[in-house]
Amino acid sequence: MKNIEIKMHRGKRIALVAHDNKKEELLQWAKYNAGVLKDHELYATGTTGKLLSGSVGLKIRKMMSGPVGGDQQIGARIAEGKIDILIFFWDPLEPQPHDPDVKALLRIAVVWNIPVASNRASADFLISSPLFQSEYRRNVVLTARQ
Ligand code: PGA
Repeated sequence: MKNIEIKMHRGKRIALVAHDNKKEELLQWAKYNAGVLKDHELYATGTTGKLLSGSVGLKIRKMMSGPVGGDQQIGARIAEGKIDILIFFWDPLEPQPHDPDVKALLRIAVVWNIPVASNRASADFLISSPLFQSEYRRNVVLTARQ
């Protein structure tokens, strides 16, 4: 068993992803919270990122679109310690062509002990936590197999 401590700074690196039926909800959430989000480093899958920069005006580092590799790019950054928080409004009511990638992203976020919000209420709780804007040391426990 191996323990790693990863320091999360005041300015967080936040990944934003929304499936098609959830994009409007994420846009509304991001608009409402734009004043807070603008002080952090934002990443998103392709289409989500385009919408967020276009209609909310946030500066976003865009990955590929989710179904062609964007989810995996975000997952890789989480494993490299380059993403601190995942806001992922995934759709529980519609099958996704890239379901294995979606599962992999959610799984790797848990492995690396990063906060994840899967819907608007959890995103509201996360962004209003005092820890969102302060330093935090997260502990990552990796078993021998990992
Ligand atoms: P998109 O990808 O932002 O490119 O639509 C989201 C996803 O389905 O993972």
